[in-house]
Amino acid sequence: MAERPAPTSELQHQLQLLSEKFAARLTQELPELASKAQLLLAADSETQLQQLRSLRDQLHKLAGAAGTFGFASIGQRARDLEQQATHWLESQRLKDQDLQAFIDQLQQFAAQSVQNDTAPSNPAPLRSGLKAETDTHCIYILEDEISVGENMRLTLGNFGYHAEHFSRIADFDAALQRRLPDALIIDVNLGDNEQNGLVYAAALQQRLEQPLPLLVITTKDDFATRLEAVRVGAMGYFTKPVDIPQLENRLERCFTQQQGEPYRVLIVDDDHDLASRYSLILRGANMLVEVLESPAGIFAAMSRFNPEVVLLDVNMPGCTGPELAQIIRFNDDWLRVPIIYLSAETNINRQMNALIKAGDDFVSKPISDNALVTTVFSRAQRARLLSIALSRDSLTGLLKHADIKEQVGIELERAQRSGKPASLAMLDIDLFKKVNDSYGHVAGDNVIRALANLLRQRLRRVDSLGRYGGEEFLVVLPDCTAEQAMRVLDEIRQRFAELHFIAGGSEFSVTLSAGIASTEHGAQDAGELLDRADRALYVAKHGGRNQVR
Ligand code: GH3
Ligand code: MG
Ligand code: MG
Repeated sequence: MAERPAPTSELQHQLQLLSEKFAARLTQELPELASKAQLLLAADSETQLQQLRSLRDQLHKLAGAAGTFGFASIGQRARDLEQQATHWLESQRLKDQDLQAFIDQLQQFAAQSVQNDTAPSNPAPLRSGLKAETDTHCIYILEDEISVGENMRLTLGNFGYHAEHFSRIADFDAALQRRLPDALIIDVNLGDNEQNGLVYAAALQQRLEQPLPLLVITTKDDFATRLEAVRVGAMGYFTKPVDIPQLENRLERCFTQQQGEPYRVLIVDDDHDLASRYSLILRGANMLVEVLESPAGIFAAMSRFNPEVVLLDVNMPGCTGPELAQIIRFNDDWLRVPIIYLSAETNINRQMNALIKAGDDFVSKPISDNALVTTVFSRAQRARLLSIALSRDSLTGLLKHADIKEQVGIELERAQRSGKPASLAMLDIDLFKKVNDSYGHVAGDNVIRALANLLRQRLRRVDSLGRYGGEEFLVVLPDCTAEQAMRVLDEIRQRFAELHFIAGGSEFSVTLSAGIASTEHGAQDAGELLDRADRALYVAKHGGRNQVR
């Protein structure tokens, strides 16, 4: 697991130390700037331009760093001076009296006292990824139509959730007092005497320390209600009759987002102090951070650390941020990793030029702590969702055929080494062609997804799940006898048969058959084990379906 985030006070302390260090750097660097400026007057015009360029670069760095460390006014003055210098450099026209004024300003700037003039901000209190893993997720349903609410409660129960249904706000409130659930499902129209569900949800979320994942159910299929739902923070919107497997799918996604491992962030910045500060802030928001100070180490860092987001400084000696971004993009394996530039660059044209070559986003220095955390968090979140979507079967989120087959081999070897039995189950949905024919392909897809979700809910973390074929699934159960596997799979078979699906206004249910093979009867290779499970499944089908053999 990840390292624990530093306690806030410890984080503040470390940030304070970094600020002090930066202040010390300023007291040294500012007088240097002043004496460099003094040299400008004596130089010939060629040297003058060169010196001015170097001064400009130094001011540029200062402009970016100072604000980030809490020296906002110093940062702003540095930026003004930088822009003046840039203007001269671009126009190549530098009059002596202008130069004198510039030098005077620089010297005034250098003489000003180094004072920390912005209060350090706390990193955004984003939801921590370290939420303790609980056995079952608890869901509260607020739905005035008893039959709808009860059906939902039972079905979610079948999926392995602990669901409670309430038909009145008062009861719902009382339950919230007793225990906070992990997610809320709220009906928009709660009957004549009750408040509108969305209005109630908005007030409720306000009362909570941290808003809960909220799914909205409603008979209204219009834009305005959807907009209202978004505004109260809903993460899902379902019109009645509610397709519960689809709703369950959304719940699953909410929880995956919440409970995932901390995001991995790679920072490439040659400014050691700035990089330390960014990494402290991001670690404070529970991310794993590595800092790379030399761009040449990028390959090793990418391969070893496998970051989900890369933060690149734009101005680095030897290799610029956009150049490094293009180098990263040469490698297809890293295409999905978002690249964010950190830069003191405020010129929109130059920002755009950098983005056109490679890279996904620009964050301007000085960067507020909240802006840094939010930008990185949202990019990382999206990158992870995409990455999961790419490596998994798109319909079910389970392993694809080749990967689950590989898993059979791995578990078989493990079983042979440890002497513990492993079991394999092959599942096939019964008469699935008829589902497609009667209710359409979309309804068929929902059934497949529902079975995938049910398997995910009912099986252990150590079990591997794969979509073996169209409506065929393969489950690998390590440390599990055939008898235990029978029990688990038969329970899944029953739960699946109890699910109600809705398509085109009609309701239907579906069954499945499964065949089990285990390593108990001698050691075989993966192919043989698969064969045996397949034969058992065949027996189940011929024995009348809706059974486990
Ligand atoms: P049995 O009980 O013998 O398994 O009957 P069956 O109809 O389930 O078996 P069969 O293998 O003949 O038909 C499987 C059907 O599943 C055929 C195919 O069109 C459908 N199918 C396969 N993949 C998908 C999918 O991803 N989505 C949908 N909707 N249907 C699929
Ligand atoms: Mg079938
Ligand atoms: Mg089939």
